[in-house]
Order: sequence, then structure tokens, then C-alpha cells
Amino acid sequence: MSKRAYNFNAGPAALPLEVLKRAQAEFVDFRGTGMSIMEMSHRGAVYESVHNEAQERFLALLGNPEGYKVLFLQGGASTQFAMIPMNFLGQGQQANYVMTGSWATKAYKEAKLIGETHIAASTEEDNYMSIPKLSDISLSDNPAYLHITSNETIGGTQYKEFPDTASVPLICDMSSDILSRPFDINQFGMIYAGAQKNLGPSGVTVVIAKEGLIADSPKHLPTMLRYNTHVSNNSLYNTPPSFGIYMINEVLKWIEEQGGLEGMHNYNRKKASLLYNMIDGSEGFYRGCADEASRSDMNVTFRLASEELEKEFIKASEQEGFVGLKGHRSVGGLRASIYNAAPLESCQALVDFMKHFKQTRG
Ligand SMILES: *Cc1c(COP(=O)(O)O)cnc(C)c1O
Repeated sequence: MSKRAYNFNAGPAALPLEVLKRAQAEFVDFRGTGMSIMEMSHRGAVYESVHNEAQERFLALLGNPEGYKVLFLQGGASTQFAMIPMNFLGQGQQANYVMTGSWATKAYKEAKLIGETHIAASTEEDNYMSIPKLSDISLSDNPAYLHITSNETIGGTQYKEFPDTASVPLICDMSSDILSRPFDINQFGMIYAGAQKNLGPSGVTVVIAKEGLIADSPKHLPTMLRYNTHVSNNSLYNTPPSFGIYMINEVLKWIEEQGGLEGMHNYNRKKASLLYNMIDGSEGFYRGCADEASRSDMNVTFRLASEELEKEFIKASEQEGFVGLKGHRSVGGLRASIYNAAPLESCQALVDFMKHFKQTRG
């Protein structure tokens, strides 16, 4: 087999090699059915067992919380930005948002299209290079929910702890750090994530929510945009993205094999520390973008002295087999996305490359 790239793509992103190989082995003949899982009915027993298994694994990894449902939807996390206020924002209520960067802002803008909103906290003044202190979050008079973004993929910031909103549902976009570390799902009314960063291929959006929150949706909403449609049909109201859900189930198995969320967290901390130590020890040659206390373990953002030098870095890295190190087009700079499936070996290779680059250009 040809050499795998050092893949630091932000999303779609690296998948575990073991998972790709397993999928390859059963690609043409899925468990003796004589067809690929992509070719079979989503109403049949074979597909449904995979579908249900993926839901069960998800809940098991989260400690089997009482009263939560797992939904597999489409339209990406971006469609959730709209569905959340459509389903949960009632008359006389405000949709509350913590503004931490590009993704939080996109979510907030969708809510503004639907109804009344309130900014509960913001780090815009800080150029979104930090996460607000939990004590700075201030809810409106009649909040429908509080929405947060656990990891800002573009800026490279991440919550280290989550706010306690008591009876107000806490809703979290976990697209870029879901299942990367242990957390208490019971604190949340709902979490959601596009699959393409930490869970599998693009095309599936995972929603995990308290049954009570999603059991009823406003009657005027179109069928596909109501959570209760998907709850009462076990995410099989229409044809689900079956291959993607199968891949997620395989990724979840792999996470179990890595020691669950605890194991993933240790592995992710190790990878992120390698890179941050390199940056911090470079005497200013590399400069981390995010405030130290808010740094993400998933997206390591950094800069060099000039854009010129950054271009040179990217070009040289590509020649050495590194992929995806260019920062998001909206902020520039450099970014190494190191989700669950990015191997430690890739991070070590990147550190070696960074050392070498500094020696020759520093
Ligand atoms: C990538 C990303 C999204 C967008 O997801 P889509 O599935 O492309 O809609 C939303 N939020 C965060 C935090 C992301 O990283």
C-alpha cells in the first residue's frame, strides 16, 4: 500500500486507517448479503441493525444517560443552526448565544432570522482568541435556550468546562470536538455535530437530545425540519445516509477500542501538547494564535513572522507529505487539525518538520 499522507485537514478529515480497512473488507459483500450496505433497503433488518447499533454505541460512550435520543440527520451542522431556533424559540422568548468565533456567529445569524435573540457573552473584542469566563455569561429575561460552540474550528479555541444553565436547555455545537474527551451529557439539552471532523464521512449530522426537548415541535414547521418527525421515526422518516451511518458505527467501535472517551482524551492531549510545546519553545519563531487557557486540543492555530514565511512553510510542508496546514481563508495563518483519528506519528513528524524549518529559516 502507498504511504498515507500526514493529513491535518480541518474537515472532512482523517479517518482511522483500521476503520477504512474494515470498511474495505466488507465493501462489496456486506456480511454475506451479496451486496454492499449502500445497495440494500434502509427498511431491512441488516441495515436497521447497523443503524440501531450506532445509536446504542453513541449512548454507551456517553455513559448511557437516561432519557436521551440519538438522531441521524442530513444538511450538516449548518441546518441545525436553523432547526434549533425553529423548533425551540417560542413567542416572547429569546435565543441566547455565546459568541466565540466564526461558527457561533453563523449559528446566531440563523436564529436572528427566526426570532428574538440575545448575546449572552462574546469575546469579539479579543478577536475571538479566547472563550469567555463562565461567570461572564449572562442570560436574557426569558431564555428559550443557551447555545454554545464547544470548539471553534477556525480560531482554535475550546471550552475547558461548560456553563450550568439549570432549567434552561444548554445546546452545544460539538462538530469539531465531539467524543474527543469525557463530558457530562446530562448538563445538555442537546448536542449536535456534522460527522466529517470526528465521527466519519460527511453527509450525516448527529443530534443527541433530551427526549422531552424534542418530543414536540411547532405544528407549522415543515415535516423534515421538525425534530419530532425524526424522533418518532427513529431517523428513518426518509432515506438516511446509510453508508455514512455505517462508517460512524465503525468509528465508534474504534473509539471503544482506544479506551473510550478517557482513552481518546489522553491521546488527544498528548498530540496537542507535542505541537503547543514546539510552538511555545520556538523563541517566538512560531506564535500560537489562541489564548493559552482557551487553546483547542483539536485545531492548533499558529503564525509565523510574515505571510511570506507562512507561504514558504506551507509549500515546504506539502513537499514533505503534509496536507491541510493552511489556516482557514477567513483568518489566514496556519492550522493543524488533529481530531481523534489524526495519528500521534503525524504530529511527531510535524514537530520534526517545524524544527527543521526553523533551523533553516530562523
Ligand atoms: C465544520 C463546522 C460546522 C459546519 O458543519 P457542516 O456540517 O459543514 O454544516 C459547524 N460548526 C462547527 C464548530 C464546525 O467545525
